Amino acid sequence: MAQLIDGKQLSNQVLQKVASEVEYLKGEYGVVPTLAVVLVGEDPASQVYVRNKVKRAKEAGMGSIEYRLDTETTQGDLNQLVAQLNNDPQVHGILVQLPLPPHLDEDEVIASIDPAKDVDGFHPLNVGALAAGQASLVPCTPQGCMIMLRQVHQDLSGKHAVVVGRSNIVGKPMMALLLQADCTVTMAHSRTRDIESLCRNADIVVAAAGRKELVNADWIKPGATVIDVGINAIEADGKRKLVGDVAFAPVSETAGAISPVPGGVGPMTIACLLLNTTRAARRQLA
Ligand code: NDP
Repeated sequence: MAQLIDGKQLSNQVLQKVASEVEYLKGEYGVVPTLAVVLVGEDPASQVYVRNKVKRAKEAGMGSIEYRLDTETTQGDLNQLVAQLNNDPQVHGILVQLPLPPHLDEDEVIASIDPAKDVDGFHPLNVGALAAGQASLVPCTPQGCMIMLRQVHQDLSGKHAVVVGRSNIVGKPMMALLLQADCTVTMAHSRTRDIESLCRNADIVVAAAGRKELVNADWIKPGATVIDVGINAIEADGKRKLVGDVAFAPVSETAGAISPVPGGVGPMTIACLLLNTTRAARRQLA
């Protein structure tokens, strides 16, 4: 049986680190690291994510301000709110929950966030800094995946990693981080041919396709490490249930280590968001 990479437990360790950094910034500088979260519309999954982020921020002793805007919010109103938060010295991190309603331009909103407060790490300047291997605010989900991988591999150098999915928020920054850690990285996506054999050659598979249980046991080399980013809601026995992009039970028989869904990458993402907020606060102090 594969070793379980417990995201809940690991995220608690990260959150403890965040809480002590918050204490330090309060004690030393009288500054309360503060995260502003902006939610536009009524998307139920986004509402849950925002609630969890705000809850965890409070538990870590951080400040959090929640803005809930209605679905009809205009681009101008949203840009104005972001500009106000950019200029507010009490706010250290800004997160605009995605996806936005279709009439709003996500790229424009992301580009309008002050890169120093861009705790999601999606601003083009932060994306470029990451690609160039420079210190930056790194997107939270891939950052969490790296912490999980380092639980299993002290040294990632020379490992062959396959990332399934090439989105800007998960797949591409994941590739950049793995490259920085000296992995050999293959990016797979919906047009990739014979994805199964690519994965079968990998020491590490990161699944971020948003396709329920896409990765099966015959995709995985015995002993490989599997990180499951996917979150897919399904109905089972009349109940709503979350499953990942990896068929957990069969893959656990083959893999050397595997992260579960739920209780894997999800809690790590939130913990890394708060870590980014304390980093942003510290940099703004400097
Ligand atoms: P996107 O939909 O933006 O991207 C999905 C990627 O997967 C695309 O690059 C797509 O390829 C690729 N893909 C789709 N189907 C296949 C397939 N059959 N084989 C190979 N590649 C495929 O999704 P996100 O990156 O935003 O999210 C991915 C998953 O991770 C989702 O389930 C999401 O809910 C979850 N997620 C979880 C987070 C967490 O905190 N745990 C945070 C963020 C996301 P192409 O580019 O060719 O279309």
